[in-house]
Amino acid sequence: MKRRDFIKTAGLLTAGAAAGLSGCAPSGGNAGFNFNRLGAGEGLKLSFEPYELQLRHTFTVSSYSRKTTPGVQVKIDYEGFTGYGEASMPPYLGQSVETVTAFLSRVDLGQFRDPFQLETILAYVDSLSPGDGAAKAAIDIALHDLVGKLLGQPWWRLWGLDPSKTPDTTFTIGIDTPDVVREKTRECADRFNILKVKVGLENDKEMISTIREVTDLPLAVDANQGWKDREEALDEIFWLKENGVVMVEQPMAKERIDDNAWITERSPLPIFADEAIQRLADIPSIKGAYHGINIKLMKCTGMREAWKMLNYARAEGMKVMIGCMTETSCAVSAAAQLSPAVDFADLDGNLLITNDLFRGMEVVNGKITLSDAPGIGLEPII
Ligand SMILES: [Mg+2]
Repeated sequence: MKRRDFIKTAGLLTAGAAAGLSGCAPSGGNAGFNFNRLGAGEGLKLSFEPYELQLRHTFTVSSYSRKTTPGVQVKIDYEGFTGYGEASMPPYLGQSVETVTAFLSRVDLGQFRDPFQLETILAYVDSLSPGDGAAKAAIDIALHDLVGKLLGQPWWRLWGLDPSKTPDTTFTIGIDTPDVVREKTRECADRFNILKVKVGLENDKEMISTIREVTDLPLAVDANQGWKDREEALDEIFWLKENGVVMVEQPMAKERIDDNAWITERSPLPIFADEAIQRLADIPSIKGAYHGINIKLMKCTGMREAWKMLNYARAEGMKVMIGCMTETSCAVSAAAQLSPAVDFADLDGNLLITNDLFRGMEVVNGKITLSDAPGIGLEPII
């Protein structure tokens, strides 16, 4: 089966199911799932297919460059409804198409006949291995999409969030030559309200100055652990603040907790952990070392744990940002459901690829815009 057909088949299945049930759908958008059917029929049906993402530009951060990102598309079918999920595996996560498909092959969702038992189902999935965050996220996202569709509601509403409070998303300018940086900045400066710049190499100030030739937009910077000396890093952060930077991600190596904490204590800008934080259970170990955390579904196993992390971080007085990998609109739209509750959003992954499979969350005048569509708000592109 061709990859687009994998999505297409599911799309028709979903459309057919919705059409067949529309006669009994009450006003208010309920999709019409008959709750008397809950647990009565067959179990959840998981299927998956590798899908390679093609990048618009070669992507460079402080440690590597690449032109594609491997991914795996996932579906969960139940009672004529389909939930979509996705695993995206940038090289530094240590996961691949092989590890993700091997993990998914071990998952037996057929034993579950009630998709609303998210806690039980996802605890089972998590128990199968200590890692495999992206593979677990793919299942979690598909299950959330399915549950939202059965309820006929988007997740931002089920979580009690106000869609008018979504933030602007940053759009990333990769490390490159001044000419390319100038051109990329020109391309995106009038479409976004905040840009993100990858720093952490020798040419940081040149990158920022080049962007400043083109635009005065606020900038977020991500050092990706690239800075080696804490005093030099702090000096640079003061310089960055003078140049319109509003936040800093992962200044130094994640293992150097004391150095990152030293910077955080003195920094005039909020400092966010990214590589230093994977999951909920990591938050206590980095408390005090950063002002905030960057939650990414592929790191934390999906929407359910992301929501828990957000609430834990808030209870600890920490800031929260939501980020993504290079992903289709599937995983990006899943992350966007949480976005009304965060301080910063870095959800540009779907904008960086040329072969998206879905329409979902949209960026309108730089701001994340959520629809009323149920689940994670996807429509397959057929
Ligand atoms: Mg980062």
